[in-house]
Amino acid sequence: AIAIHEVSHFFGSHPVLNRVNLSVPEGTILALLGPSGCGKSTLLKMLAGLLHPASGQISFDGEIVASGKINMPPEKRHLGMAFQDYALWPHMTVQQNVAFPLQMRNIRGAAQQEKVMAALERVGLAGFASRRPSELSGGQQQRVALARAIVAEPRILLFDEPLSNLDRDLRESLCEEMATLLRQLGTTAVYVTHDQHEARALAHCIARMDKGAIASVDPIDPSVVSPFVA
Ligand code: ATP
Ligand code: MG
Repeated sequence: AIAIHEVSHFFGSHPVLNRVNLSVPEGTILALLGPSGCGKSTLLKMLAGLLHPASGQISFDGEIVASGKINMPPEKRHLGMAFQDYALWPHMTVQQNVAFPLQMRNIRGAAQQEKVMAALERVGLAGFASRRPSELSGGQQQRVALARAIVAEPRILLFDEPLSNLDRDLRESLCEEMATLLRQLGTTAVYVTHDQHEARALAHCIARMDKGAIASVDPIDPSVVSPFVA
């Protein structure tokens, strides 16, 4: 579960996040939508630990990861992330890219090998372990990034427009696959997108952001009463 409490941030004197309150219950996939520049990526970076909020507090499963006093580094937060630019390491093979989060958590040898293969299988890339990213299509690269995000069984998954660089057909098919995969995993996730359809296909609820604040949070099925704070 994620709890964001009164989080504000500034770039210079420009307020980018203005007292953001948002909670994502355990096992829920929240899609975060909003106009360009409203602060979506900035909020995701705060969750990831790549930026520290000027004020406010963030906790995961009741544990404070960011506050006035606490700034837990990204590698300690036990997250999986996938972004628009797949951010694979070009000099490493698919196997090495996917193994990286395990390496960081000191999972090596046969246990590592097993988890990497399982993750690659889940994203349909079982035969690609020894390729380099440059030898893969855009869709395949994003699958590798997805495998890397889930391989260490993180407590939270963060996605920043992971499909937006792909062409339409591929985006639609990968979106469906991701929806299935995320449902199977049951991991708490925040999924930033510009695409309504993607949000509806993937998420349990949609948060709309505007000018650095959460404007609304709605469950995708309107008959469900929203448990979310906005
Ligand atoms: P998009 O949908 O285009 O990705 P976004 O909602 O993700 O937009 P952010 O990237 O969070 O928007 O940026 C929010 C605001 O903060 C924008 O006005 C942006 O120009 C500004 N901003 C982001 N990063 C920095 C930075 N490092 N220094 C200064 N300003 C920044
Ligand atoms: Mg962004």
